[in-house]
Amino acid sequence: MNNICRVCDSTDLELAIDLGHQPWCNNFLDIQSIGKEPFYPLRVLYCHNCGTVQLDYTVKKEIMFGDHTYLSGVTNSLSEHFKNIAHEVDNKFFKDFRTKSVLDIGSNDGTQLKHFQALDYEVLGVESSKKTAKIANDNNIPTVNNFFNLNLVKSLNKKFDIINAAGVFFHLEELHSVTEGIKKALKEDGIFVVQFLYMKKIVDNLAFDQIYHEHLLYYNLNTIEILLERHDLSMFDAYLSPIHGGSIIGYVTHKGKKNPSERLLKMRKAEVEDKSNEFATYLDFAKRIKKMKVDNLSFLDQAKKDGKKIWGFGAPVKGNTMLNYFGIGTQYLNYLIEKNELRRGLYSPGMHIPVLIEKELKELPDIYYVLAWNFKKEILANNQHLIDKGIEFYFPVNP
Ligand SMILES: [Zn+2]
Repeated sequence: MNNICRVCDSTDLELAIDLGHQPWCNNFLDIQSIGKEPFYPLRVLYCHNCGTVQLDYTVKKEIMFGDHTYLSGVTNSLSEHFKNIAHEVDNKFFKDFRTKSVLDIGSNDGTQLKHFQALDYEVLGVESSKKTAKIANDNNIPTVNNFFNLNLVKSLNKKFDIINAAGVFFHLEELHSVTEGIKKALKEDGIFVVQFLYMKKIVDNLAFDQIYHEHLLYYNLNTIEILLERHDLSMFDAYLSPIHGGSIIGYVTHKGKKNPSERLLKMRKAEVEDKSNEFATYLDFAKRIKKMKVDNLSFLDQAKKDGKKIWGFGAPVKGNTMLNYFGIGTQYLNYLIEKNELRRGLYSPGMHIPVLIEKELKELPDIYYVLAWNFKKEILANNQHLIDKGIEFYFPVNP
């Protein structure tokens, strides 16, 4: 067990949620690898000093991020979200700049940077996955294939008007080196845009499947601000976006540059009122997760008894937390239906459910058990014709 808080170095940590031993959930398997995948503890600890919730066990980043198969460009609503972010940041802060630059950390296939490029930004991506970095470079998005940290910033020797980190800040094994690197690469009046899953929302929605080995840390405003302040960075504005079922979009500058906005002050207050950073809240969360397991299995058991054919909708990484913790395998779900063609012919880690590609289906189930619940709106809109035919879409989590 890692007994030192990743944010504040305190040793006063306590177990809050135990999801047992789970495979690394991005590790979709080919047929030869079935049953050979390693399992690791998946436990969430609470820091009594700073309130940050975090995993104690770290799967090495070279294992997790060297060759992942997640593509942000595949999902329309995500690409649309990235476009909105580019326009919003540009409008607010850099509209009149003749030259402007942006660095995207964990830039994936370059979807976010493409939208900045369209607004005349000089762009640079840093992406650890070789395959995805190549896709970006092939699409003329300059991308360094490496892990972002202080050493990489030193080798770039360049400062940026905007630094963006979407859905990467909780991955960071080298948390302080990365934050220090951001501090160093950010221009004097630069803006750091940090986008992260909001733990308060995860708890409210019972979206425990967002807990997996790649997410080492789970932030509320209070806890991410503790981390940023430690590196002389300050959040001055933030709001809740529906992306990924509830994410914070936070604006950060060098310390002391700007005063906190009204809406940020309001959200901070709500965290205090709702006890979002207290241990008891997480113990209660753990209890609710156990009850959710009972409810979901009873739904699936009944559907099976009724002779229904059930398939999983989506093969998202987070879905594997739910499948493994609930013990949902091919006894319930014959297939997982996925858009991302990099997962064609693979099997889900741990439960070994085969993945089929959505547009290649030759038959349909009676019920879709929706693992990609965070795209609920998009899924319901795109599949109205199936709903009209009587196919049920069951959402284990309702964002
Ligand atoms: Zn701490």
